[in-house]
Amino acid sequence: MKTKLAQGTCRFCGQMVQVEVPEQATQDYIDDAVIDVCNCKEAKKESEKRQRLQNVKGYIRNLFDTDPEKQALFNEAIERVYDKTVRKVKLQDWEWNYEIKVDSDDYIYIGRMKQVKEETTF
Ligand SMILES: [Zn+2]
Repeated sequence: MKTKLAQGTCRFCGQMVQVEVPEQATQDYIDDAVIDVCNCKEAKKESEKRQRLQNVKGYIRNLFDTDPEKQALFNEAIERVYDKTVRKVKLQDWEWNYEIKVDSDDYIYIGRMKQVKEETTF
């Protein structure tokens, strides 16, 4: 992929920063890339959030590696929880129960619990 050096503006502090981007990158894309390199506190925080989303999506990809539909469903749930559209999502996938929420330090929490039921009749 061909790249170029371009100048973008940080959405948080207004600082002009040079970034390496794909050759056809739009200004919007460039300004977006600036967030990952700007040194201001807000940009760092946003960049960290993005990194967490990337990590959690990697986890979901591994968990449901043969099932893109489930990946999409879980990713959607995670994004809605992370942007605070909803507080918590509970999903039941056959014998597994999932709970997705964001903790007070803004970390994405995924709890996974297997249902165990033992029944005996005499
Ligand atoms: Zn900045």
